[in-house]
Amino acid sequence: MESLDDLFMHFLQDVYYAERQLLKALPKMAKNAQAPALKDAFTAHREETVQQVERLEQVFEHLGKRAKGVPCEAIKGLIEEAEEVISESDTGPVRDAGLVACGQAVEHYEMARYGALIAWAQAIGHKDVVGPLQQTLDEEKKADKLLNDLDRK
Ligand code: FE
Ligand code: FE
Ligand code: ZN
Ligand code: FE
Repeated sequence: MESLDDLFMHFLQDVYYAERQLLKALPKMAKNAQAPALKDAFTAHREETVQQVERLEQVFEHLGKRAKGVPCEAIKGLIEEAEEVISESDTGPVRDAGLVACGQAVEHYEMARYGALIAWAQAIGHKDVVGPLQQTLDEEKKADKLLNDLDRK
């Protein structure tokens, strides 16, 4: 990695990998949540994630690159934590609280990544990909806030 372009491409591939892992993880989180509102939050965010993957594919296309992921140890770890909560708890409010916390950790990771990608896209003169990245960042923030509000009801 020698330039901001390299850095941008690395983290675009990183977040592409992360989003695709989340397509598999979110249904498990929905299935294991007890509160209907929490199930719905994970299910609805999975639907948004399908769109987020497509937006990333449009960004790759714009840059003339093939969409590909690079394994992200951070998202693997965050998903593993959610699986740990599930395997070490029974259905109910305690497991739900753990799933909210793990879900928020994922959203915070994504917010950090998209925030950086937007700043770098602006810096390297790809202002035309800022729109779709910002749209996804807004969805991640909204998902984080929804989980936060659910936990405090
Ligand atoms: Fe996402
Ligand atoms: Fe990563
Ligand atoms: Zn451009
Ligand atoms: Fe998300």
